[in-house]
Amino acid sequence: SPADYGVLPRPCRALVLLNPQSGAGRALEDFQAVVQPMLADADITPTVFVTERPHHAQEKVQDEDLSQWDVLVVMSGDGLLHEVLNGLMERPDWEQALQTPLCILPGGSGNALAASINYYAGNDHVAKKKLLTNCTFILCKGLHAPMDLVSLSTASGKRFFSFLGFGWGFIADVDIDSEKYRRLGNARFTLGTLQCLVRLRIYQGRLSYLPAAALTGDGEPPADTLLVPLGQPVPPHWVVVPEEEFVCVYAIYQSHLGTNLLMAPAARLHDGCIHLFYVRAGISRVALLKIFLAMGRGTHLELNCPHLHCVPVRAFRLEPRGSAGVMTVDGEALACEPVQGQIHGRMCRVVTG
Ligand code: ADP
Ligand code: MG
Repeated sequence: SPADYGVLPRPCRALVLLNPQSGAGRALEDFQAVVQPMLADADITPTVFVTERPHHAQEKVQDEDLSQWDVLVVMSGDGLLHEVLNGLMERPDWEQALQTPLCILPGGSGNALAASINYYAGNDHVAKKKLLTNCTFILCKGLHAPMDLVSLSTASGKRFFSFLGFGWGFIADVDIDSEKYRRLGNARFTLGTLQCLVRLRIYQGRLSYLPAAALTGDGEPPADTLLVPLGQPVPPHWVVVPEEEFVCVYAIYQSHLGTNLLMAPAARLHDGCIHLFYVRAGISRVALLKIFLAMGRGTHLELNCPHLHCVPVRAFRLEPRGSAGVMTVDGEALACEPVQGQIHGRMCRVVTG
């Protein structure tokens, strides 16, 4: 609703957290050439903080005086925004801190949130410089709206906040294995997908979820009430997937998995939903390839592939058998272990069209 929206003040003070190593390594150049002139016209004053190492941005926002800034801009891939978000969550005043609007400008090789926001705004599907121009224009307009987050907790006691998705199996492997091709930009995922298809593996584990429809109340669950400790069985109204062999599990809460992958066309910034996808073992390589090709236009569900499932959920749990392989949170690697997560509606704010 219109009441959800805010607008950035003018003049507007923007802290820009920029990772010079993200994507093809041109984020700083692109910022100066494309972004800076547009911001000047819109009366937005950027202060650029160039990250020097992993966790630098996270540490920066952990004890930053946020009253100096009207917006926190991340110019990188999804990984740096994940850091910033978790840095804000580590603050004692996290609730207040999350009211500072966040903005993503695509500078990385994985720019799923930027692609999603471009899609929610009703813009044509674009990539690279055009996507950067569109996202900068959205920042210049300065509207911001609530965004859902997902809290993920692991058996070893870690807790993360996530804005994009959690993956295990095929897609997580592609994401991490293709890191070495980061210089190719978004093409790294195409190459990675083909490589992982050749040595297609099966992942064993138990997947359970709380269907979105099963929730009673106003659709705004208070903190953590949907989950029981990982050591205990899931509550009786949860669904336990009977099959325990998968090619891939991916819980996504934005529309795009990557610039060219429209995985959850129905997803929106604050729909209160985790879109839980899983592909059961037994699927052929050709069928899996067809799913990925169709995902370019978001038509993969129309294939009616019997191995592909998509359920809207509020919470899920994944208990992998064994610890081989990798999991991802917002595209960043995580050791493989039991994990569960639940949606937290409208927890932060993001600049959107
Ligand atoms: P990409 O989409 O290219 O992977 P990300 O934004 O996801 O870009 O960044 C990838 C990783 O780079 C993040 O985990 C972040 O912590 C790390 N990082 C941030 N700054 C630097 C830096 N100066 N040098 C190396 N790595 C960095
Ligand atoms: Mg990344």
